[in-house]
Amino acid sequence: MSVSFWMSRVERPRRPALDGDRDVDVCILGAGYTGLWTAYYLATADPALRIAVVEREHVGFGASGRNGGWAAAELAGMDRMLADPATRPGMVRTWREMTRAVVEMGEVAAAEGIDCGYARGGTVVAATRPAHVPYLQHSVATARDAGIGEEDVAWLDAAEAARHVTPSRLFGAMYTPHCAAVDPARLVLGLAVAVERRGVKIYEQTPGTPIPGGVQTPTGTIRAAKVVQAVEAYRTGLPRQRRSVIPVYSLMVMTEPLPAETWARIGLAARQTFSDGRHLIVYGQRTADDRMAFGGRGAPYHFGSAIEPAFDLDPPTFASIRRTLVDLFPALAGAAIEGEWGGPLAISRDWRPAITTDGDRIIAGSYVGNGVAAALLAGKTVRDLIRGDDTDLVHLPWVGHRARRWEPEPLRWVGVNLGRKLTESIDRAEDAGKKPKVRNAIFRRLPVG
Ligand SMILES: Cc1cc2nc3c(=O)[nH]c(=O)nc-3n(C[C@H](O)[C@H](O)[C@H](O)COP(=O)(O)OP(=O)(O)OC[C@H]3O[C@@H](n4cnc5c(N)ncnc54)[C@H](O)[C@@H]3O)c2cc1C
Repeated sequence: MSVSFWMSRVERPRRPALDGDRDVDVCILGAGYTGLWTAYYLATADPALRIAVVEREHVGFGASGRNGGWAAAELAGMDRMLADPATRPGMVRTWREMTRAVVEMGEVAAAEGIDCGYARGGTVVAATRPAHVPYLQHSVATARDAGIGEEDVAWLDAAEAARHVTPSRLFGAMYTPHCAAVDPARLVLGLAVAVERRGVKIYEQTPGTPIPGGVQTPTGTIRAAKVVQAVEAYRTGLPRQRRSVIPVYSLMVMTEPLPAETWARIGLAARQTFSDGRHLIVYGQRTADDRMAFGGRGAPYHFGSAIEPAFDLDPPTFASIRRTLVDLFPALAGAAIEGEWGGPLAISRDWRPAITTDGDRIIAGSYVGNGVAAALLAGKTVRDLIRGDDTDLVHLPWVGHRARRWEPEPLRWVGVNLGRKLTESIDRAEDAGKKPKVRNAIFRRLPVG
Protein backbone atom coordinates (compact mmCIF):
# COMPACT_ATOMS: atom_id res chain seq x y z
CA MET A 1 0.00 0.00 0.00
CA SER A 2 1.23 3.50 -0.83
CA VAL A 3 1.96 5.98 1.92
CA SER A 4 -0.06 8.73 0.18
CA PHE A 5 -2.22 9.51 -2.81
CA TRP A 6 0.79 11.24 -4.39
CA MET A 7 2.92 8.12 -4.00
CA SER A 8 0.17 5.83 -5.32
CA ARG A 9 0.31 7.55 -8.71
CA VAL A 10 4.00 7.14 -9.48
CA GLU A 11 6.16 4.26 -10.55
CA ARG A 12 8.62 3.64 -7.73
CA PRO A 13 11.82 1.70 -8.50
CA ARG A 14 12.74 -0.89 -5.81
CA ARG A 15 16.33 -0.67 -4.57
CA PRO A 16 18.12 -3.56 -2.89
CA ALA A 17 19.05 -3.60 0.79
CA LEU A 18 22.66 -3.36 1.93
CA ASP A 19 24.41 -6.73 1.63
CA GLY A 20 27.67 -6.57 3.56
CA ASP A 21 30.11 -4.01 4.92
CA ARG A 22 31.09 -0.83 3.07
CA ASP A 23 33.58 2.01 3.41
CA VAL A 24 32.33 5.45 2.35
CA ASP A 25 33.12 9.09 3.02
CA VAL A 26 29.58 10.09 4.01
CA CYS A 27 26.73 7.86 5.14
CA ILE A 28 23.28 9.45 5.25
CA LEU A 29 20.43 7.96 7.29
CA GLY A 30 17.03 8.57 5.67
CA ALA A 31 16.00 8.98 2.02
CA GLY A 32 13.66 11.93 2.39
CA TYR A 33 14.34 15.48 1.19
CA THR A 34 16.97 16.22 3.86
CA GLY A 35 19.03 13.12 3.13
CA LEU A 36 18.70 13.42 -0.64
CA TRP A 37 19.36 17.19 -0.91
CA THR A 38 22.45 16.63 1.24
CA ALA A 39 23.57 13.83 -1.08
CA TYR A 40 22.77 15.99 -4.12
CA TYR A 41 24.77 19.02 -3.03
CA LEU A 42 27.69 16.95 -1.74
CA ALA A 43 27.93 14.86 -4.89
CA THR A 44 27.65 17.95 -7.08
CA ALA A 45 30.39 19.77 -5.13
CA ASP A 46 32.76 16.79 -5.08
CA PRO A 47 31.98 13.99 -7.55
CA ALA A 48 34.77 11.86 -6.02
CA LEU A 49 33.03 11.58 -2.64
CA ARG A 50 31.72 8.10 -1.81
CA ILE A 51 28.20 8.62 -0.47
CA ALA A 52 25.72 6.01 0.77
CA VAL A 53 22.09 6.65 1.75
CA VAL A 54 20.57 4.08 4.10
CA GLU A 55 16.75 4.03 4.18
CA ARG A 56 14.70 1.88 6.57
CA GLU A 57 11.72 1.58 4.19
CA HIS A 58 11.88 3.17 0.75
CA VAL A 59 12.67 6.54 -0.83
CA GLY A 60 9.95 9.02 0.21
CA PHE A 61 8.41 6.74 2.84
CA GLY A 62 8.44 9.55 5.43
CA ALA A 63 6.89 13.01 5.34
CA SER A 64 8.68 13.77 2.06
CA GLY A 65 6.38 11.39 0.18
CA ARG A 66 3.21 12.51 1.94
CA ASN A 67 3.21 16.27 2.44
CA GLY A 68 1.08 19.15 1.18
CA GLY A 69 3.67 20.17 -1.40
CA TRP A 70 4.19 23.70 -0.14
CA ALA A 71 7.79 24.68 -0.80
CA ALA A 72 7.52 27.81 1.33
CA ALA A 73 10.17 30.30 2.41
CA GLU A 74 8.81 30.27 5.94
CA LEU A 75 10.89 28.49 8.54
CA ALA A 76 9.20 27.35 11.75
CA GLY A 77 9.56 29.90 14.54
CA MET A 78 10.21 32.72 12.07
CA ASP A 79 7.56 35.11 13.42
CA ARG A 80 8.88 34.89 16.97
CA MET A 81 12.49 35.31 15.89
CA LEU A 82 11.72 38.28 13.64
CA ALA A 83 9.84 39.95 16.49
CA ASP A 84 12.79 39.67 18.91
CA PRO A 85 15.52 42.27 18.18
CA ALA A 86 18.15 39.82 19.44
CA THR A 87 17.29 37.10 16.90
CA ARG A 88 15.97 39.35 14.09
CA PRO A 89 19.15 39.83 12.00
CA GLY A 90 19.86 36.08 11.86
CA MET A 91 16.28 35.31 10.93
CA VAL A 92 16.25 37.93 8.16
CA ARG A 93 19.37 36.27 6.68
CA THR A 94 17.63 32.89 7.01
CA TRP A 95 14.51 34.22 5.30
CA ARG A 96 16.59 35.48 2.35
CA GLU A 97 18.24 32.05 2.03
CA MET A 98 14.84 30.38 2.22
CA THR A 99 13.45 32.57 -0.58
CA ARG A 100 16.48 31.55 -2.66
CA ALA A 101 15.85 27.88 -1.78
CA VAL A 102 12.30 28.11 -3.17
CA VAL A 103 13.62 29.41 -6.51
CA GLU A 104 16.55 26.99 -6.57
CA MET A 105 14.24 24.02 -6.12
CA GLY A 106 12.55 24.94 -9.41
CA GLU A 107 15.90 25.42 -11.12
CA VAL A 108 17.25 22.05 -9.95
CA ALA A 109 14.00 20.32 -10.88
CA ALA A 110 14.23 21.79 -14.39
CA ALA A 111 17.95 20.99 -14.76
CA GLU A 112 17.53 17.40 -13.53
CA GLY A 113 14.32 16.68 -15.42
CA ILE A 114 12.29 16.22 -12.22
CA ASP A 115 8.68 16.55 -13.34
CA CYS A 116 7.19 17.61 -9.99
CA GLY A 117 4.70 20.21 -11.22
CA TYR A 118 6.66 23.06 -9.65
CA ALA A 119 4.63 26.31 -9.80
CA ARG A 120 5.74 29.39 -7.86
CA GLY A 121 2.38 31.04 -7.29
CA GLY A 122 3.02 32.23 -3.73
CA THR A 123 0.93 31.65 -0.62
CA VAL A 124 -2.28 33.34 0.40
CA VAL A 125 -3.26 33.10 4.08
CA ALA A 126 -6.83 34.33 4.25
CA ALA A 127 -8.63 35.92 7.17
CA THR A 128 -11.79 33.81 7.04
CA ARG A 129 -12.98 35.19 10.41
CA PRO A 130 -12.75 38.77 11.65
CA ALA A 131 -10.58 37.42 14.50
CA HIS A 132 -7.92 36.35 11.97
CA VAL A 133 -7.34 39.92 10.75
CA PRO A 134 -5.23 41.20 13.68
CA TYR A 135 -3.13 37.98 13.78
CA LEU A 136 -2.25 38.18 10.11
CA GLN A 137 -1.72 41.94 10.15
CA HIS A 138 0.61 41.45 13.10
CA SER A 139 2.68 38.95 11.07
CA VAL A 140 2.92 41.41 8.19
CA ALA A 141 3.89 44.24 10.58
CA THR A 142 6.56 42.03 12.19
CA ALA A 143 8.07 41.32 8.78
CA ARG A 144 7.96 45.01 7.87
CA ASP A 145 9.68 46.03 11.13
CA ALA A 146 12.43 43.55 10.24
CA GLY A 147 12.95 45.29 6.89
CA ILE A 148 11.08 42.68 4.80
CA GLY A 149 9.32 44.67 2.11
CA GLU A 150 5.80 44.85 0.70
CA GLU A 151 6.97 42.88 -2.36
CA ASP A 152 7.92 39.98 -0.03
CA VAL A 153 5.00 39.91 2.43
CA ALA A 154 1.88 42.04 2.00
CA TRP A 155 -1.47 42.58 3.67
CA LEU A 156 -4.33 42.57 1.14
CA ASP A 157 -7.80 43.89 1.79
CA ALA A 158 -10.76 41.63 1.00
CA ALA A 159 -11.12 42.82 -2.61
CA GLU A 160 -7.40 42.35 -3.35
CA ALA A 161 -7.36 38.99 -1.58
CA ALA A 162 -10.29 37.81 -3.70
CA ARG A 163 -8.06 38.08 -6.75
CA HIS A 164 -6.13 35.11 -5.28
CA VAL A 165 -8.80 33.02 -3.58
CA THR A 166 -12.47 33.26 -2.71
CA PRO A 167 -13.38 31.22 0.36
CA SER A 168 -16.92 31.50 1.74
CA ARG A 169 -15.88 34.35 4.09
CA LEU A 170 -13.00 36.69 3.34
CA PHE A 171 -11.86 39.66 5.43
CA GLY A 172 -8.43 40.15 3.87
CA ALA A 173 -5.27 38.07 3.50
CA MET A 174 -1.55 37.93 3.95
CA TYR A 175 0.24 37.20 0.67
CA THR A 176 3.81 36.26 -0.14
CA PRO A 177 5.13 35.29 -3.57
CA HIS A 178 7.81 33.07 -1.95
CA CYS A 179 6.19 29.66 -2.17
CA ALA A 180 5.91 27.00 -4.84
CA ALA A 181 3.42 24.15 -5.13
CA VAL A 182 5.00 20.79 -5.95
CA ASP A 183 4.01 17.14 -6.19
CA PRO A 184 5.99 15.93 -3.16
CA ALA A 185 6.36 12.30 -4.22
CA ARG A 186 7.59 13.15 -7.71
CA LEU A 187 10.09 15.54 -6.15
CA VAL A 188 11.56 13.01 -3.72
CA LEU A 189 11.65 10.15 -6.23
CA GLY A 190 13.18 12.44 -8.87
CA LEU A 191 15.85 13.58 -6.43
CA ALA A 192 16.76 9.97 -5.70
CA VAL A 193 17.32 9.33 -9.41
CA ALA A 194 19.36 12.55 -9.71
CA VAL A 195 21.72 11.55 -6.88
CA GLU A 196 22.10 8.01 -8.23
CA ARG A 197 23.16 9.51 -11.58
CA ARG A 198 25.98 11.14 -9.61
CA GLY A 199 27.11 7.83 -8.14
CA VAL A 200 25.34 7.94 -4.76
CA LYS A 201 24.26 4.48 -3.52
CA ILE A 202 20.80 4.20 -1.95
CA TYR A 203 19.98 1.10 0.12
CA GLU A 204 16.28 0.58 0.83
CA GLN A 205 14.77 -1.74 3.47
CA THR A 206 17.89 -1.07 5.54
CA PRO A 207 17.34 0.34 9.04
CA GLY A 208 20.47 2.01 10.35
CA THR A 209 21.73 2.99 13.79
CA PRO A 210 24.52 5.54 14.12
CA ILE A 211 27.59 4.07 15.83
CA PRO A 212 31.05 5.59 16.37
CA GLY A 213 32.73 5.66 12.96
CA GLY A 214 29.65 4.85 10.89
CA VAL A 215 26.26 3.18 10.77
CA GLN A 216 25.20 -0.30 11.87
CA THR A 217 22.50 -2.13 9.92
CA PRO A 218 21.18 -5.70 10.24
CA THR A 219 22.93 -6.63 6.98
CA GLY A 220 26.28 -4.87 7.29
CA THR A 221 28.29 -2.04 8.76
CA ILE A 222 28.99 1.16 6.85
CA ARG A 223 32.20 2.80 7.98
CA ALA A 224 32.07 6.51 7.23
CA ALA A 225 34.10 9.60 8.08
CA LYS A 226 30.84 11.53 8.45
CA VAL A 227 27.29 10.43 9.24
CA VAL A 228 24.27 12.62 8.47
CA GLN A 229 21.11 11.76 10.39
CA ALA A 230 18.05 12.86 8.42
CA VAL A 231 15.21 10.77 9.84
CA GLU A 232 12.94 13.59 11.14
CA ALA A 233 10.05 12.23 13.28
CA TYR A 234 11.55 8.70 13.30
CA ARG A 235 14.41 10.05 15.38
CA THR A 236 12.40 9.07 18.44
CA GLY A 237 13.19 5.43 17.57
CA LEU A 238 16.99 5.90 17.69
CA PRO A 239 18.98 5.19 20.86
CA ARG A 240 19.06 8.06 23.40
CA GLN A 241 16.95 10.34 21.15
CA ARG A 242 13.42 9.44 22.26
CA ARG A 243 12.76 12.87 23.78
CA SER A 244 14.63 14.96 21.18
CA VAL A 245 11.43 15.65 19.16
CA ILE A 246 7.78 14.57 19.23
CA PRO A 247 6.01 13.01 16.24
CA VAL A 248 2.86 15.02 15.46
CA TYR A 249 0.50 13.78 12.79
CA SER A 250 -0.75 15.85 9.88
CA LEU A 251 -3.50 14.35 7.71
CA MET A 252 -4.61 15.12 4.16
CA VAL A 253 -7.39 14.49 1.66
CA MET A 254 -7.32 14.70 -2.14
CA THR A 255 -10.37 15.51 -4.26
CA GLU A 256 -11.08 14.27 -7.73
CA PRO A 257 -9.96 16.62 -10.58
CA LEU A 258 -12.30 19.61 -10.47
CA PRO A 259 -13.87 21.28 -13.49
CA ALA A 260 -12.92 24.78 -14.63
CA GLU A 261 -16.27 26.18 -13.34
CA THR A 262 -15.43 25.03 -9.82
CA TRP A 263 -11.96 26.58 -9.98
CA ALA A 264 -13.51 29.79 -11.30
CA ARG A 265 -15.45 29.95 -8.01
CA ILE A 266 -12.42 29.10 -5.82
CA GLY A 267 -9.58 30.98 -7.52
CA LEU A 268 -5.94 29.89 -7.03
CA ALA A 269 -5.42 30.41 -10.76
CA ALA A 270 -1.63 30.65 -10.36
CA ARG A 271 -1.64 27.56 -8.10
CA GLN A 272 -1.07 29.69 -5.00
CA THR A 273 -0.91 27.55 -1.90
CA PHE A 274 -3.69 28.41 0.53
CA SER A 275 -4.28 28.57 4.27
CA ASP A 276 -6.22 30.71 6.73
CA GLY A 277 -5.62 32.46 10.00
CA ARG A 278 -6.97 29.80 12.39
CA HIS A 279 -4.70 28.44 15.11
CA LEU A 280 -5.01 24.75 14.19
CA ILE A 281 -3.14 24.73 10.90
CA VAL A 282 -4.88 23.86 7.62
CA TYR A 283 -3.21 23.98 4.19
CA GLY A 284 -4.19 23.43 0.59
CA GLN A 285 -2.84 23.40 -2.91
CA ARG A 286 -4.39 23.23 -6.35
CA THR A 287 -2.51 20.38 -7.96
CA ALA A 288 -1.10 20.38 -11.49
CA ASP A 289 -4.06 18.19 -12.52
CA ASP A 290 -6.65 20.50 -10.91
CA ARG A 291 -7.44 18.58 -7.74
CA MET A 292 -7.59 20.16 -4.31
CA ALA A 293 -5.07 18.65 -1.90
CA PHE A 294 -6.05 19.78 1.59
CA GLY A 295 -4.72 18.89 5.01
CA GLY A 296 -4.63 19.84 8.64
CA ARG A 297 -3.34 19.07 12.10
CA GLY A 298 -5.50 18.02 15.03
CA ALA A 299 -4.87 14.27 15.14
CA PRO A 300 -3.99 13.02 18.63
CA TYR A 301 -0.43 12.76 19.95
CA HIS A 302 0.22 9.15 20.96
CA PHE A 303 1.65 8.13 24.32
CA GLY A 304 5.40 7.57 24.38
CA SER A 305 5.85 9.35 21.00
CA ALA A 306 4.60 6.17 19.33
CA ILE A 307 4.56 6.01 15.52
CA GLU A 308 2.31 3.33 14.00
CA PRO A 309 0.94 2.92 10.46
CA ALA A 310 -2.59 2.92 11.95
CA PHE A 311 -2.07 6.49 13.23
CA ASP A 312 -1.80 7.75 9.62
CA LEU A 313 -5.55 7.24 9.26
CA ASP A 314 -7.67 8.92 11.93
CA PRO A 315 -11.35 8.98 10.84
CA PRO A 316 -12.45 11.86 13.14
CA THR A 317 -9.58 14.03 11.84
CA PHE A 318 -10.41 13.20 8.20
CA ALA A 319 -14.07 14.09 8.88
CA SER A 320 -13.02 17.40 10.40
CA ILE A 321 -10.67 18.18 7.46
CA ARG A 322 -13.46 17.43 4.96
CA ARG A 323 -15.91 19.63 6.91
CA THR A 324 -13.43 22.50 7.00
CA LEU A 325 -12.73 22.17 3.28
CA VAL A 326 -16.42 22.37 2.36
CA ASP A 327 -17.01 25.16 4.86
CA LEU A 328 -14.24 27.18 3.19
CA PHE A 329 -15.26 26.24 -0.36
CA PRO A 330 -18.93 25.22 -0.59
CA ALA A 331 -18.35 24.52 -4.30
CA LEU A 332 -16.56 21.35 -3.15
CA ALA A 333 -19.59 19.90 -1.33
CA GLY A 334 -20.16 17.27 -4.01
CA ALA A 335 -16.52 16.62 -4.93
CA ALA A 336 -15.40 13.02 -4.53
CA ILE A 337 -12.48 12.40 -2.17
CA GLU A 338 -10.07 10.04 -3.93
CA GLY A 339 -7.36 9.80 -1.30
CA GLU A 340 -6.87 10.11 2.47
CA TRP A 341 -3.52 9.72 4.21
CA GLY A 342 -1.29 11.18 6.87
CA GLY A 343 2.06 10.96 8.53
CA PRO A 344 4.26 12.18 11.34
CA LEU A 345 6.35 15.33 11.36
CA ALA A 346 8.91 16.29 14.01
CA ILE A 347 8.50 19.05 16.57
CA SER A 348 11.35 20.03 18.85
CA ARG A 349 10.71 21.42 22.35
CA ASP A 350 11.10 25.04 21.20
CA TRP A 351 9.40 24.50 17.82
CA ARG A 352 12.55 25.41 15.91
CA PRO A 353 14.42 23.36 13.31
CA ALA A 354 18.12 22.76 13.81
CA ILE A 355 21.32 21.44 12.30
CA THR A 356 23.57 20.15 15.06
CA THR A 357 26.90 18.40 15.13
CA ASP A 358 27.67 15.57 17.51
CA GLY A 359 31.21 14.32 16.89
CA ASP A 360 31.31 12.98 13.33
CA ARG A 361 27.51 13.02 13.09
CA ILE A 362 25.38 15.88 11.78
CA ILE A 363 21.68 15.86 12.66
CA ALA A 364 19.33 17.98 10.52
CA GLY A 365 15.58 18.51 10.76
CA SER A 366 12.71 19.02 13.24
CA TYR A 367 11.04 21.32 10.74
CA VAL A 368 7.66 21.50 12.57
CA GLY A 369 5.81 20.86 9.32
CA ASN A 370 7.75 23.41 7.23
CA GLY A 371 10.40 21.14 5.77
CA VAL A 372 9.95 21.05 2.00
CA ALA A 373 12.08 24.09 1.12
CA ALA A 374 13.97 24.08 4.43
CA ALA A 375 15.39 20.63 3.63
CA LEU A 376 17.03 22.04 0.50
CA LEU A 377 18.68 24.76 2.57
CA ALA A 378 19.68 22.13 5.14
CA GLY A 379 21.25 20.01 2.40
CA LYS A 380 23.41 22.91 1.17
CA THR A 381 24.36 23.81 4.74
CA VAL A 382 25.34 20.24 5.65
CA ARG A 383 27.45 20.13 2.48
CA ASP A 384 29.38 23.21 3.67
CA LEU A 385 29.77 21.81 7.18
CA ILE A 386 31.13 18.52 5.87
CA ARG A 387 33.51 20.22 3.45
CA GLY A 388 34.63 22.66 6.13
CA ASP A 389 33.65 25.66 3.98
CA ASP A 390 33.18 28.85 5.99
CA THR A 391 30.12 30.11 4.08
CA ASP A 392 27.26 32.36 5.20
CA LEU A 393 25.09 29.25 5.47
CA VAL A 394 27.08 27.68 8.31
CA HIS A 395 26.54 30.86 10.34
CA LEU A 396 22.74 30.88 10.11
CA PRO A 397 21.14 30.67 13.58
CA TRP A 398 19.71 27.17 13.17
CA VAL A 399 23.24 25.74 12.83
CA GLY A 400 24.31 24.58 16.27
CA HIS A 401 20.94 25.48 17.82
CA ARG A 402 19.94 22.97 20.49
CA ALA A 403 16.45 22.71 21.91
CA ARG A 404 16.02 21.08 25.29
CA ARG A 405 14.45 17.64 25.46
CA TRP A 406 10.71 17.09 25.76
CA GLU A 407 9.32 16.16 29.18
CA PRO A 408 9.08 12.50 30.16
CA GLU A 409 5.72 10.72 29.97
CA PRO A 410 3.00 11.03 31.11
CA LEU A 411 3.66 14.79 31.28
CA ARG A 412 4.41 14.95 27.56
CA TRP A 413 1.19 13.21 26.56
CA VAL A 414 -0.93 15.38 28.87
CA GLY A 415 0.78 18.64 27.84
CA VAL A 416 0.77 18.07 24.08
CA ASN A 417 -2.84 16.89 23.94
CA LEU A 418 -4.00 19.74 26.23
CA GLY A 419 -2.24 22.20 23.90
CA ARG A 420 -4.07 20.65 20.96
CA LYS A 421 -7.45 20.92 22.74
CA LEU A 422 -6.74 24.53 23.71
CA THR A 423 -5.92 25.40 20.09
CA GLU A 424 -9.15 23.81 18.86
CA SER A 425 -11.21 25.58 21.53
CA ILE A 426 -9.82 29.03 20.57
CA ASP A 427 -10.76 28.40 16.93
CA ARG A 428 -14.25 27.24 17.94
CA ALA A 429 -14.79 30.33 20.09
CA GLU A 430 -13.60 32.63 17.30
CA ASP A 431 -15.84 30.81 14.82
CA ALA A 432 -18.72 31.74 17.15
CA GLY A 433 -17.63 35.39 17.10
CA LYS A 434 -16.22 35.32 20.67
CA LYS A 435 -12.89 36.71 21.89
CA PRO A 436 -11.28 34.00 24.08
CA LYS A 437 -8.78 36.40 25.69
CA VAL A 438 -7.59 34.14 28.52
CA ARG A 439 -7.12 31.13 26.25
CA ASN A 440 -5.29 33.28 23.73
CA ALA A 441 -3.01 34.62 26.44
CA ILE A 442 -2.17 31.04 27.46
CA PHE A 443 -1.65 30.06 23.81
CA ARG A 444 0.78 32.93 23.30
CA ARG A 445 2.88 31.62 26.18
CA LEU A 446 3.15 28.17 24.61
CA PRO A 447 6.32 27.57 22.58
CA VAL A 448 4.41 27.29 19.29
CA GLY A 449 4.30 28.99 15.93
C1 LIG B 1 0.90 15.21 5.93
C2 LIG B 1 2.07 16.14 5.94
C3 LIG B 1 1.96 17.35 5.26
C4 LIG B 1 3.06 18.23 5.24
N1 LIG B 1 2.98 19.34 4.46
C5 LIG B 1 4.07 20.15 4.32
C6 LIG B 1 4.07 21.22 3.40
O1 LIG B 1 3.10 21.42 2.66
N2 LIG B 1 5.17 22.02 3.34
C7 LIG B 1 6.27 21.81 4.12
O2 LIG B 1 7.23 22.58 4.05
N3 LIG B 1 6.33 20.73 4.96
C8 LIG B 1 5.26 19.89 5.04
N4 LIG B 1 5.33 18.79 5.86
C9 LIG B 1 6.61 18.49 6.51
C10 LIG B 1 7.65 17.99 5.50
O3 LIG B 1 7.07 17.01 4.69
C11 LIG B 1 8.85 17.44 6.24
O4 LIG B 1 9.37 18.45 7.08
C12 LIG B 1 9.97 16.96 5.33
O5 LIG B 1 9.48 16.10 4.34
C13 LIG B 1 11.04 16.27 6.16
O6 LIG B 1 11.94 15.63 5.30
P1 LIG B 1 13.04 14.68 5.91
O7 LIG B 1 13.81 14.14 4.80
O8 LIG B 1 13.81 15.43 6.96
O9 LIG B 1 12.24 13.55 6.70
P2 LIG B 1 11.32 12.36 6.12
O10 LIG B 1 10.76 12.68 4.80
O11 LIG B 1 10.37 12.00 7.20
O12 LIG B 1 12.35 11.19 5.87
C14 LIG B 1 12.95 10.47 6.90
C15 LIG B 1 13.28 9.09 6.34
O13 LIG B 1 14.10 8.40 7.30
C16 LIG B 1 13.76 7.03 7.23
N5 LIG B 1 14.23 6.40 8.47
C17 LIG B 1 13.69 6.49 9.70
N6 LIG B 1 14.42 5.81 10.59
C18 LIG B 1 15.47 5.29 9.91
C19 LIG B 1 16.58 4.48 10.28
N7 LIG B 1 16.79 4.10 11.55
N8 LIG B 1 17.45 4.10 9.32
C20 LIG B 1 17.27 4.48 8.02
N9 LIG B 1 16.23 5.26 7.62
C21 LIG B 1 15.35 5.66 8.57
C22 LIG B 1 12.26 7.04 7.07
O14 LIG B 1 11.77 5.81 6.57
C23 LIG B 1 12.06 8.21 6.12
O15 LIG B 1 12.02 7.80 4.77
C24 LIG B 1 4.25 17.91 5.94
C25 LIG B 1 4.35 16.70 6.64
C26 LIG B 1 3.26 15.82 6.64
C27 LIG B 1 3.40 14.52 7.39
